[in-house]
Amino acid sequence: MSMADAKINTDVIIVGKGISGLILSILLKERNVDHVLLDRVDKRKIMPMPETLPPSALVLLESLNLLELFEKSSSKTFGYHSLWGSDTVTDNHFFFHNPYKYGLKLNKQALLNDLEEVVKDKVVRFNDLMEINRSDENVSINIESNNTVRTINGRVVIDATGRNRNVLKHLGIASEPYDNLIALSCHLPFIKHPKLVHSVFSESFEHGWGIVSSLNEQINGMTIFTQKGNPILPQLKSYQHWKTVLSKTKLLKDFLTNDLNRKVVGGDANSSRASKIAGSNWLAIGDAATSFDPLSSHGISNAIYCADASAKAIESHLKDDSESHFQNYEDTLTQIFNEYLKHKRKLYDTETRWKANSFWNDNIFTKPVHVSG
Ligand SMILES: Cc1cc2nc3c(=O)[nH]c(=O)nc-3n(C[C@H](O)[C@H](O)[C@H](O)COP(=O)(O)OP(=O)(O)OC[C@H]3O[C@@H](n4cnc5c(N)ncnc54)[C@H](O)[C@@H]3O)c2cc1C
Repeated sequence: MSMADAKINTDVIIVGKGISGLILSILLKERNVDHVLLDRVDKRKIMPMPETLPPSALVLLESLNLLELFEKSSSKTFGYHSLWGSDTVTDNHFFFHNPYKYGLKLNKQALLNDLEEVVKDKVVRFNDLMEINRSDENVSINIESNNTVRTINGRVVIDATGRNRNVLKHLGIASEPYDNLIALSCHLPFIKHPKLVHSVFSESFEHGWGIVSSLNEQINGMTIFTQKGNPILPQLKSYQHWKTVLSKTKLLKDFLTNDLNRKVVGGDANSSRASKIAGSNWLAIGDAATSFDPLSSHGISNAIYCADASAKAIESHLKDDSESHFQNYEDTLTQIFNEYLKHKRKLYDTETRWKANSFWNDNIFTKPVHVSG
């Protein structure tokens, strides 16, 4: 395969260079599976937010020989605090988790750069994904960059484009949303709360819940979650109203600053899945397959799990052309997602203080819902 050719012929085409796409690329490279990793050049500036990996994910990372690389750009966290379902702060420490008694607070951009370094020979950048043509035998994708159209031919295509589900959209596969959760995030000056030991804290309130976590020694990242259509949403879009909206919280409000000139960035955070996760020669991985409520801290673990499971399924599929490997992959992810929905419902059910508010009724569904704008 030559990257200089107008046409590229390969076995696997991964679209999307987030955690799931990068780890799949690393695992396929280790297996000598010919592939490319398509990366859309995105000029939009992203506001980095703190993300945490629970101790359970470290076992999987260790088994994939990726733990050292993840730890390089992360700091350890020995637990988190929450104020959920009652007025008492709970200390959820990781002391009893074995074998790892800590989780990781990720510097995501540094981590993505480190992962990309391992597979930089596989990355093909483009501006616009123009067309995907798929038959049961092969897949062909036309990409455009600098006014030049290139065709990539492969045997299998992978959607790793996150909640965007861009490949699935091209293939006509619908998304199934299970709630309307939306996230509004901003950067605040770092403060260490005198009543908290850990640097991750979440608290529920009448119209949703919020989390604050340190990004570095200067910045705390705060995200407030509510639902699309909630009357509080217009106020949350502008930081100047956050003090009023969060005025009845016990500790969350202490992290807010008097400087009202803060940028708020919004985005979807709902639970959803692709109505189909795999077909005869395509798969969705990470958020593109199933996306989780950030309350679960399961998103990145899922991205790693999907990359591992799909690498095995792809290797087997390329050997014997059988569809069963992809079907098994879809069945496993469906099972995991259904278990997650039950767990999420239980978690939201433990908060009973504001049951009259639509937020605390709308986030409990275990069946697809109509999403309001
Ligand atoms: C507010 C919030 C807080 C979160 N906190 C946590 C947390 O603490 N812990 C945790 O485990 N998870 C957390 N998550 C979830 C976690 O971020 C995701 O689950 C994870 O990043 C999914 O990885 P991914 O590779 O599947 O998708 P993404 O990280 O979304 O990567 C997708 C990639 O595809 C690219 N892309 C999109 N469209 C195209 C296209 N058309 N062509 C090519 N490329 C494209 C994107 O630019 C991106 O690079 C949080 C999510 C939210 C919304």
